[in-house]
Amino acid sequence: MSEDTRETQEMAGHAPAAEHTDEGHDKGQRRRMQRRFHRRKVCRFCLAKDVYIDYKDVRRIGRFISDRGKMLPRRVTGCCARHQRMLAVAIKRARFMALLPFKAE
Ligand SMILES: [Zn+2]
Repeated sequence: MSEDTRETQEMAGHAPAAEHTDEGHDKGQRRRMQRRFHRRKVCRFCLAKDVYIDYKDVRRIGRFISDRGKMLPRRVTGCCARHQRMLAVAIKRARFMALLPFKAE
């Protein structure tokens, strides 16, 4: 009789503890929040397969400066590293040749 009671107590102690389901749910929500503003842009120079960006081509370069004459950052232009760097060089040359303004007021 005494053995019987001990067995039942042990059974109660080994009850399955499955209460850890909240964590995963929380993480999933946070990840979705981060992904909200992710939009993939393709470098348009890579798309056009233009290897060289000419500083004399003001019409094309002029689209990559702001209305105040500043160069647009890569997050705006969507250019790849290589073409953004070439663009920066082209804009600086164009400025030096007085094709583009250093500063527009
Ligand atoms: Zn590119």
